[in-house]
Amino acid sequence: MNGHPTREEDFDLYALGALEGDEKAAIETHVATCSSCTEKLAEARGRLALLALAAPPVAPSPSVKARLMNRVRSEKQGRAAAVSPVPETTGGLFGHWWAAVLVPVGFALALASFVLWTQNRRLDQQLAALHADMQREQQQLQSAREVADLINARDTMIVPLAPQPGMPKGSAHVMYNAKMGMLMYEGQLEPNPANKSYQLWIVPTKGNPISAGVFNAASTETDHFLMKLPPGIAPKAFAVTLEAAGGRPAPTGPMVLVGAAS
Ligand SMILES: [Zn+2]
Repeated sequence: MNGHPTREEDFDLYALGALEGDEKAAIETHVATCSSCTEKLAEARGRLALLALAAPPVAPSPSVKARLMNRVRSEKQGRAAAVSPVPETTGGLFGHWWAAVLVPVGFALALASFVLWTQNRRLDQQLAALHADMQREQQQLQSAREVADLINARDTMIVPLAPQPGMPKGSAHVMYNAKMGMLMYEGQLEPNPANKSYQLWIVPTKGNPISAGVFNAASTETDHFLMKLPPGIAPKAFAVTLEAAGGRPAPTGPMVLVGAAS
């Protein structure tokens, strides 16, 4: 080989260590004195390095390699005998033995992208879960701040609620700040029947009772909740009634607990 290698594949074959004897010697001698071919060889090595990173090593068996190499050689001789010295471009790509490397590389790349896609999706899900956790914690922090504000405010009233005769037993109290429009209920009541709910009412000095929360009581547990109301409601009393499950717009059931706002 006196001039440049006539086939681009020669660089890949050489980089793969697939050229032997005269062919190998010829390309080595030529590359030593030709900067453009040195560059092409460097590119071929780069391609192979990338493929090696992406694919598990695939070594064709020696007999397959020998057979394919023979085919490559006879193709080269056939072309040398023909008139045109111009190399064919991509014609016989998958006829060459290095297709045995490139084809598995294609599968490996597809597999790699599938694995990455799966990992990506898992990360997305983890991120969404973390985000939800964070939002929940922020909400809890926000409620904790509101409770602290309510407890610390000088104008917050604390109203104990007393059980009524013949009604479910329990005790509770309400913390209420009219200016802040904030109410906190804390209490323990006998469990309500399944088809009923407890409902807390703020009974204003003027006008109809206003719902301040619907809840179900479980035995031994303290129920507490924070409620935001329009600010400025002056209360006469607070009361808990037993209503149809889910509560009512106005009290209809029996009064279970009641406390006067003094
Ligand atoms: Zn050259």
